[in-house]
Amino acid sequence: MLLTITNTAPDATDLGFLLHKNPANLHTADLPFGKARVFYTAAGSDVCSACLLLEIDPVDLVRGAQQAEDYVNDRPYVSSSYMTVAIGRVFGTALAGNCQKRPELVAARLPLRVDVEVIRARGGGEVLRRLFEPLGYRVETARLPLDERFPEWGESGYYRFSMAGETTVHDLLSHLYVLLPVLDDEKHYYVGDDEVEKLLRHGEGWLSRHPERQLIVSRYLKRRSSLIDQVFARLLDDENAAVEAAESKSERSTLAEKDLERPLTLHTQRLNQVATRLKERGARRVVDLGCGEGRLLRRLLADRSFEGILGMDVSHRSLEVASTRLRLEQMPERQRKRIDLIQGSLLYRDRRLAGFDAAALVEVIEHLDPARLAAMERVLFEFAHPRHIVITTPNREYNGLFPGLPAGKMRHGDHRFEWTRLEFAMWARATGTRFGYEVVFEPVGPVDGACGAPSQMAIFTLADRLTDKADRQ
Ligand code: SAH
Repeated sequence: MLLTITNTAPDATDLGFLLHKNPANLHTADLPFGKARVFYTAAGSDVCSACLLLEIDPVDLVRGAQQAEDYVNDRPYVSSSYMTVAIGRVFGTALAGNCQKRPELVAARLPLRVDVEVIRARGGGEVLRRLFEPLGYRVETARLPLDERFPEWGESGYYRFSMAGETTVHDLLSHLYVLLPVLDDEKHYYVGDDEVEKLLRHGEGWLSRHPERQLIVSRYLKRRSSLIDQVFARLLDDENAAVEAAESKSERSTLAEKDLERPLTLHTQRLNQVATRLKERGARRVVDLGCGEGRLLRRLLADRSFEGILGMDVSHRSLEVASTRLRLEQMPERQRKRIDLIQGSLLYRDRRLAGFDAAALVEVIEHLDPARLAAMERVLFEFAHPRHIVITTPNREYNGLFPGLPAGKMRHGDHRFEWTRLEFAMWARATGTRFGYEVVFEPVGPVDGACGAPSQMAIFTLADRLTDKADRQ
């Protein structure tokens, strides 16, 4: 694999200072899987090109695998995460934003070009563009045939790509460092907490605003949801981070590579859908009842249109987890003022629940004893009395389609009931009518012709227009 960085600014050889690699020499570094060499193919005042050549040694790969169990030796030699390790190793100083001899150069935005040969890009040239273009690069890609001699064999998953833009060497290396392993989507080392730190460090200043941040974070961290949650929770500390905002589309639909990307989990879809509906209805102050570990709260926080957010749960333990995940204690004051967590039960009238535009109960009602539903109805519809109420609950009809669920079983040990669509609709309509709310229904998740969707949603809206007016005044 070969990665070439070219500078065409006047005094082009400044690139040598920035990369800490003298253009006159050949530089070699030993890596656990082979050798990295840096040399220059041009070093004039107009053009300076530094090449990073990565030679992967199959024997080293095997040795690496024996020494450290987290190395896997069967990855293709074009794996871009090897290139990332090489960048970190040979251009580490520049990647950290340092330049000892000419510190003033670090902030210089230069006309830079990168040529990469050859990488595997999962999702193809389309993904390459979606990753690099939002960062201001012009991107060109060429898909390589499986074998140049036999074009009839068809095309490979391997690409040659170039990108050009005006940027600092530090930013350029950070972008490559984070995005190359996202491209091949197969990191050859174990992904743990360290990777969270690396991602946040190298993504600083750009990742939180990148439209494909969900794809980037999820692929970079090999879809390990606990780590992904950590990253989003921390990016949220950044006042500007609109991460995982309700409006952000799923990894799957933005990429239109349906057969390649795993679908979002049902729960993620559900939470995104709830957040979207709340936003569409113009809710600014929202209470999440039975907020659990705060996954909906995090989405609401990410969107500034939600001005006041309250999470309530009966479980103290869940609230502790929510508080840690949201990093409430480290949150900047302005952000912190938008959110509160309280312990309480939906079965008892609670003055703290009054005065909200909307309430959400996501997968909560089925945890209540049916005999107590009437108490919850009054607490919610009569006393809390928000303008909008969004309730989701499983659709029992779908249970037969879950391969691992024995017939007649519920999805969760703590579920007291699971309703069919008709049962849910009858309850919701009757409750709506009793308390003066109109109700509409939506499926949540993929809809099966016979059984409906795995989960179902009811959206209640106060029907009384007089109340409407009175509220606005
Ligand atoms: N809404 C969250 C959690 C769903 S699990 C999510 O979608 O991720 C159901 C949650 O309801 C649990 O956190 C449980 O503690 C909470 N819960 C159960 N009974 C409750 C009650 N009476 N009052 C408030 N919360 C309750």
